[in-house]
Amino acid sequence: MLSNLQKKDKTFIWHPYTHVKNGQGVIPVVKARGAHLYDEKGQKIIDAISSWWVNTHGHGHPHIARSIAAQFKQLDHVIFAGFTHKPAVNLAERLLNHLPENQKKVFFSDDGSTAVEIAVKMAIQYYHNKGQKRRKIIAFDNAYHGDTFGAMSVSGKSIFNAPFDGLTFDVLRIKVPISGQEDTVVAEFEKLIINNDVAAFIFEPLVLGAGGMIMYEPEPLEKLISLCRKYKVISIADEVMTGFFRTGTFFACDQLKNKPDIFCISKGVTGGTLPLGITTCASYIYEAFLDKDIRKTLFHGHSYTGNPIVCSAANASLDLYENENCLKNVLRIKEKHLDFFRKISSHKSLKDVRVKGTIMAFELLSEETTSYSNALKEKIYNYFLNNGILLRPLGNVFYILPPYCISNKDLKYIYNCITDFLNKL
Ligand SMILES: *Cc1c(COP(=O)(O)O)cnc(C)c1O
Repeated sequence: MLSNLQKKDKTFIWHPYTHVKNGQGVIPVVKARGAHLYDEKGQKIIDAISSWWVNTHGHGHPHIARSIAAQFKQLDHVIFAGFTHKPAVNLAERLLNHLPENQKKVFFSDDGSTAVEIAVKMAIQYYHNKGQKRRKIIAFDNAYHGDTFGAMSVSGKSIFNAPFDGLTFDVLRIKVPISGQEDTVVAEFEKLIINNDVAAFIFEPLVLGAGGMIMYEPEPLEKLISLCRKYKVISIADEVMTGFFRTGTFFACDQLKNKPDIFCISKGVTGGTLPLGITTCASYIYEAFLDKDIRKTLFHGHSYTGNPIVCSAANASLDLYENENCLKNVLRIKEKHLDFFRKISSHKSLKDVRVKGTIMAFELLSEETTSYSNALKEKIYNYFLNNGILLRPLGNVFYILPPYCISNKDLKYIYNCITDFLNKL
């Protein structure tokens, strides 16, 4: 039985990533606090995936709420071409302090996809402005960089972008350097660079998110970035999912000695409260756009670029990241994940289990192709939802990616449910 709200929703709304024909009724949520969502009927649901990987400090954090309210009263919005304001300047300065030394300029946009679009445009136009013919981009198979056309182009070919095949631009692809194939990937990468006019290499550092929570070590990435340096290829780290302690360090690239030239940031930046995309770059890239010739301008901007309320949410969120309790929680979750890993890793229903920081992923054995459309997806989703836990599987892979405020009790409950689920398979 659908509630009134569900009926109207069904009449009026087209939901993201929702298979419309088989779509079950969506769940009306009336309130969220900490790691919990509360539905129309008052049922509590543990938000074990941080509402699509964005929520880090927990829902309804009073510090962020106060900051947003105060900013609204002071300055709600102003055009960001020709104008500026304190929340944006503070945020840029503070973020650069957390990024590697080579990052010097901050470009604001709206979400992860736009942050990626801008990174790709910066890289391509850099060589255009320099008068060099370099336009090819290298990306990982299985990569996910967003849903706009440029972001789809650099993403791996999948069910997500298949209808647009031929309309997206061609990129050169390499395998992910997971354990056992590091050397072949590095060799293949160098070959691609030598034989093509490569402008940039874009990658998700250490964890490929939507591609199935595929994890790899810093060492091979270190080598790929070295090769970028050697051949003057711009390296672009898409930290949209991995940023803000997700993998245990502030940015995943903090685990590298070689630093990328461009960073894409979003999701956790506002603690999951308001949408914001950020692209940062090294000064040598910015300098290629400084010219008397107007044609060398980066002609890119969105209506809400640098919105002051959003920036103030991000500044408040940064206050919380900079508080030592945040990292303590991250390390606590990581330890709990590793404890559970030791208990569950040899379970007969599992093909693989992996942990990186606060992310724990479970890959089920499956006869079917292990793609996003795998039939296990629905089964896993329903099982956990019926037990008051929101997990959103990627085909036969499901994962815990919780807000950092999640309690040990909730974690234990989730682990127990996972064990029960696996035992029943
Ligand atoms: C989610 C994601 C994006 C896209 O971000 P949106 O805010 O959904 O547009 C890009 N890159 C990575 C690595 C992501 O996980």
